[in-house]
Amino acid sequence: MVKLNENGLFVVFTGAPGCGKGTQARILKEKTHICHLSTGEMLREYAAKDTPLGRELKAALDRGEFATDEMIIEMVKNRISQDDCKRGFILDGFPRTMPQAEILESMLAEKNIKLNCVLEIQVPDEIIMERILGRYSCMKCGAGYHDKFQKPKIYGVCDECGGTEFSRRKDDNRATVQNRLVNYRLLTYPTIPFFESRGLLKTVDGTGTIEAVSKKIDSILGIE
Ligand code: AMP
Repeated sequence: MVKLNENGLFVVFTGAPGCGKGTQARILKEKTHICHLSTGEMLREYAAKDTPLGRELKAALDRGEFATDEMIIEMVKNRISQDDCKRGFILDGFPRTMPQAEILESMLAEKNIKLNCVLEIQVPDEIIMERILGRYSCMKCGAGYHDKFQKPKIYGVCDECGGTEFSRRKDDNRATVQNRLVNYRLLTYPTIPFFESRGLLKTVDGTGTIEAVSKKIDSILGIE
């Protein structure tokens, strides 16, 4: 585990769907033991529940639509107030809209937390589609794989936990990805110049291997 300075490490990973935010956030969490907060994963947990909210959310996610700002902000507010976030967190998939970015700024100011940086992982659209359509994960431990770029060492067996059942995200299909890319450009992209104006933005080329991108991120964050 790397040693963090006394101020901890508070980062936002942003970028288009499929840019590698989740993968890189999981790697950084392994190294630093700070919290990985994925709003997408939190929403998928809600959507798996057979409740009116769960069903409504599931339908929206399956179409590639965003959850409401109110719901997301409430979720994040609760989560970052918990003790395990005191040393730091990686926000993955939040903020995704301008209102979310503005609320995050005031939420953190209230808690006296200074973001270290907002890291944008840049990947061209043609690569994104190939990455998303080929990805799947272990149903037991969540480890991520790809049909072409990251196969398990033994066919059908998870490298991490030996699990043999895998699943694909319902929103990882061509039509939904196209919708998610449109939403990214319209709603999320405006947060990039916002964070740049705050002096927080760093960008990383996300087209290399997982290990190569992770190395670049470590050097931006000052991690050995
Ligand atoms: P992700 O796992 O980050 O790809 O998120 C999956 C889906 O959850 C997205 O396509 C959105 O529909 C929804 N979602 C995740 N984070 C947010 C957010 N911050 N605001 C609104 N919707 C979100």
